Amino acid sequence: MEIFHISAECYPMAKVGGLADVVGALPKYQQNAGHQVRVVVPCYDTKFKNENDFECVHWGNIKLGDFDFLFSVLKERTDKLGYELYLIEIKELFDRPNIYGYEDDIERFLSFQIAVLDWIIARKKNPDIINCHDHHTGLIPFIIKYSYKYEILSKIRTVITIHNGLYQGWFGYDKLHYIPEFDLKHVGFLEWNNSLNSLAVAVKCAHAVTTVSPSYLDEINISANGLEALFNMTRGKSKGILNGIDIEVWNPLKDKMLETHYSIENFEIGKQKNKEKLCERFDLDPAKPLFSFIGRLFNEKGGDLLPQASALALSENFENINILILGSGNPDIEKQLLQLREDYKGNYNVFIGYNEELAHLIYAGSDFILMPSRVEPCGLNQMYALRYGTIPIVRRTGGLRDTVIDFGDNGNGICHDQASVGDVCYSINRAVSLYDNKDNFNSIIKKGMSIDHSWERVCQEYIEIYNQIIQKHEN
Ligand code: ADP
Repeated sequence: MEIFHISAECYPMAKVGGLADVVGALPKYQQNAGHQVRVVVPCYDTKFKNENDFECVHWGNIKLGDFDFLFSVLKERTDKLGYELYLIEIKELFDRPNIYGYEDDIERFLSFQIAVLDWIIARKKNPDIINCHDHHTGLIPFIIKYSYKYEILSKIRTVITIHNGLYQGWFGYDKLHYIPEFDLKHVGFLEWNNSLNSLAVAVKCAHAVTTVSPSYLDEINISANGLEALFNMTRGKSKGILNGIDIEVWNPLKDKMLETHYSIENFEIGKQKNKEKLCERFDLDPAKPLFSFIGRLFNEKGGDLLPQASALALSENFENINILILGSGNPDIEKQLLQLREDYKGNYNVFIGYNEELAHLIYAGSDFILMPSRVEPCGLNQMYALRYGTIPIVRRTGGLRDTVIDFGDNGNGICHDQASVGDVCYSINRAVSLYDNKDNFNSIIKKGMSIDHSWERVCQEYIEIYNQIIQKHEN
């Protein structure tokens, strides 16, 4: 079958978080399983765009209210990612270094969606499936169903995959006229709680809804930033599918971003070498257990707990542990984390920013990875950590609940229930005791490294959903 994935991110073209990793990898495994897979993302000014070769396969212009934009569709010539990658170039809107965070984000992503659909019409061949990802592509299921101009696409089956339901792409009625003309009797599909809500539109109009873990689907029925009732109503067409990881990119034996490679056979020495490199760079002591955090510094990720938890854990265990943090986000949290450097020199460090290479080294060189998240739809860090022999310390929520089991229950990590400084510190103390019991510590590492979180198994679950919604339509 022909499958289109339409998304705001795709690794390595454009990445902010886990959405990019999923959209970068899942299509490759679907293509390997014999399907024709195309991935379409906006053409940002990124390193990948500038270092690779693209050909223009289509161009046109779109109208967004009173604005007119020229767009081009660029195809990466060599299919080096394992599927056809297309970029929608709209220079005024996307030729910028960042992916999100601009005042005109609504205009940017609406134009992107309209341009993709115009191009699909121009191809004169409808795909079997359009898989939309998150709210940035949430209007597509509505537009192809109800906008007159796109009637020819109305039979395409659509899926919305929710990577993060907190962000919903709200906009006001003053922008309603951006949406290509439709019969106003359908306007209710666009609305939720007195605003236009892109994610709600997708959940209402797509033929199937997937979330990135089963537990997250349960959770959004109870807490979903205002959409709980909608998720309850649409439960029948929803399924939670746990993300996989790209085991070619994330492989400690071949990782291009590591100098010292290792496997389950020699992880002790391999991890120690990576730890030494990391500790040298951040002025830490490689003889002590190293606790790290990688991620966006927001309350959602428990980022607000990190400064106090780090200070408390370091005071209690001073001389015993190291803590290293990589991330960016809330300026207050960043400031507090930077301030701790003075007080705990030699035992603590922080890198504010985004650094893919450093993230790989941290997964390889740390002993424990901290994930005190309040919300974690799936979470990829814990799966990368397990594969790299780093024990995850997680709050039981969403995908973390589905992938990490406490070592006290014969599992692969350390778990707590509350998003609190006390719970994080309690887990750190348990980790210190575990670290001192080398046999136990190593056997938990081995257990984590042996888990198969590859996409091969998971990708079939998506295909089953696609088949179900295609068959339902034929009957
Ligand atoms: P999110 O909610 O941010 O999408 P995920 O756990 O699903 O969280 O995915 C996070 C991804 O982003 C992982 O690949 C992680 O390594 C990466 N990442 C997050 N922050 C940083 C950073 N500051 N530098 C490098 N990689 C990062």
